[in-house]
Amino acid sequence: MSDIDVIAAVLDRHHHDGTRLMQILREIQEQLGWLAPETLTSVAATVGWPRARVEGTADFYSFFHTRPMGRYRVLWSDNITDRMLGNTDLMDAMCKKLWLEPGRVSEDGLVSVDTTSCTGMCDQGPALLVNYRAITRMTPSRVDDMIELIRKEAPVAEWPAAWFAVEDNIRRKGILLDHGLVPGQALAAALERGPEKMLAEIKDAKLRGRGGAGFGTGLKWEACRNAAGHGAGAAHYVVCNADEGEPGTFKDRVLLTSHADLVFEGMSIAGLVVGAKKGLLYLRGEYRYLLEPLESALAARREAKLLGSNILGTPFEFDIEIHLGAGAYICGEESALIESLEGKPGRPRIRPPFPVTHGYLDQPTTVNNVETLAAACLIATHGSAWYLRHGTEKSSGSKILSVSGDCERPGIYEYPYGVTVRQVLDDCGAWNPQAVQVSGPSGICLAEAEFGRRIAFEDIPTAGAFMAFDETRDMFEVARNFAHFFAHESCGFCTPCRVGTTLVRNLMDKIARNHGSPYDINELFKLHRLMQGASHCGLGNSACNPMFDTLNKFRPAYERRLMSLNYEPAFDLDAALSQARQMTGRDDDAAHFSAHLQKEAEA
Ligand code: SF4
Repeated sequence: MSDIDVIAAVLDRHHHDGTRLMQILREIQEQLGWLAPETLTSVAATVGWPRARVEGTADFYSFFHTRPMGRYRVLWSDNITDRMLGNTDLMDAMCKKLWLEPGRVSEDGLVSVDTTSCTGMCDQGPALLVNYRAITRMTPSRVDDMIELIRKEAPVAEWPAAWFAVEDNIRRKGILLDHGLVPGQALAAALERGPEKMLAEIKDAKLRGRGGAGFGTGLKWEACRNAAGHGAGAAHYVVCNADEGEPGTFKDRVLLTSHADLVFEGMSIAGLVVGAKKGLLYLRGEYRYLLEPLESALAARREAKLLGSNILGTPFEFDIEIHLGAGAYICGEESALIESLEGKPGRPRIRPPFPVTHGYLDQPTTVNNVETLAAACLIATHGSAWYLRHGTEKSSGSKILSVSGDCERPGIYEYPYGVTVRQVLDDCGAWNPQAVQVSGPSGICLAEAEFGRRIAFEDIPTAGAFMAFDETRDMFEVARNFAHFFAHESCGFCTPCRVGTTLVRNLMDKIARNHGSPYDINELFKLHRLMQGASHCGLGNSACNPMFDTLNKFRPAYERRLMSLNYEPAFDLDAALSQARQMTGRDDDAAHFSAHLQKEAEA
């Protein structure tokens, strides 16, 4: 098939629909290797969008390539837990043996090797992606074997199947992972109740979103249900957020691998309540390997009359589509995710309006976490009174934790809300822990004195990541890894985050080189305040949390690096902005970054 035929076939399959641009670009790239300029031109002409708009989307996502890449694209997962398992040495060895610099394509166009943000395999790292297929448990001998296969140009599909094995590693089951439901059971119970009573049951059960923020699911569904659709395409939508990109989180991977029916059924129940006929599951690009199994699960549900029209012999109509992301952490933010679903760069929207009134295609949309939707099935089946018997007063039900780091048994642990951090550490075999990072880099770093705190909305809310660090770990390096993560993942939309995350990363690198001074520590605190107050979305608001926590709780890790007593600037932002001031003819206080910092300090 010629390139033109490949492009035409993909566009036909997606009905020339620009809102499906992400899927169009991914499928073309999977077949042609990259997105050539003429490909983008052809796609733009066919979907009827300006070329710049199509190019804007292609450029935004790190898994899309607008220049030729190696026929084998190796991306090493670079979360701190991968580092603790030795990913850096393995990647260096791979690059040396391939005579390759990280980030470069080999001269013969065969291979490129680079890093990527956490791929969600922290319980079985070091991990990597080869042509976006996940490989776990890398070892020196596996690196050698992989190089041999690359040199022989063996197709990835023919590589040893064991390399691609992704284990669930479920270590502790609770009410969700031990549900015992058969497909259709929860949906039948919801249909019997009807939408109003089902909504009341969700509200009575006090179900709260499992993505971390903990917004009431019943309130969200009610707001969406009560919102009117707009215009000719008036409709309501259910979106399942399966873009779990927070480093250290992998619970959705396990739910979608082994309990996909529960998640799809939760989406159907949400559809029944809000009055939607269509659901969209946004799957993170790193979980590309789950696409075909999930499509098969959907096909089986259609076959069983659990999706489509006349579901279980009732007038209820609902179906689900899967959309694959392309390596942008910010798409975990619900409005950015909706932008991505519409084929645009994943930049958070200005809110209000909120997605419940103006979401996907500007229509009322409820966006829920994978675990939240699965929990809704338990409530539909067993009722709110049963559900309330688990957890605490303000945190009903259970929470699934993704446990990784320095422990004997990394994996998935489900607890009723209210479990102490100490209990989790004991259960997973974390001996001599000095710190736990709960809820990923944007969450909280706990020191030993806080291990009696509880996982619950009234104490420590979490999306699920639980990374343990023993006393041999350098907490400065942990925070520095997170600083690099945020600088890489900032979407660049607003200046405080775009510039701030880079400044923080540079300051941390400067301190790591032993060039830091007490002045730089003050700068980190100032940036923390500035970014918390002025950033457009949660990424910028929380990007300095790791530095703030580790500075407060593990300050010696910083101070022993402060060799320079004199201030040494890492980067003079005010000077860098002088050209912009000249061009705009401004030189007032507000046009100087230093004046903003001064005001912040005085506030
Ligand atoms: S805070 Fe960061 S991620 Fe959020 S919109 Fe601004 S630049 Fe983008």
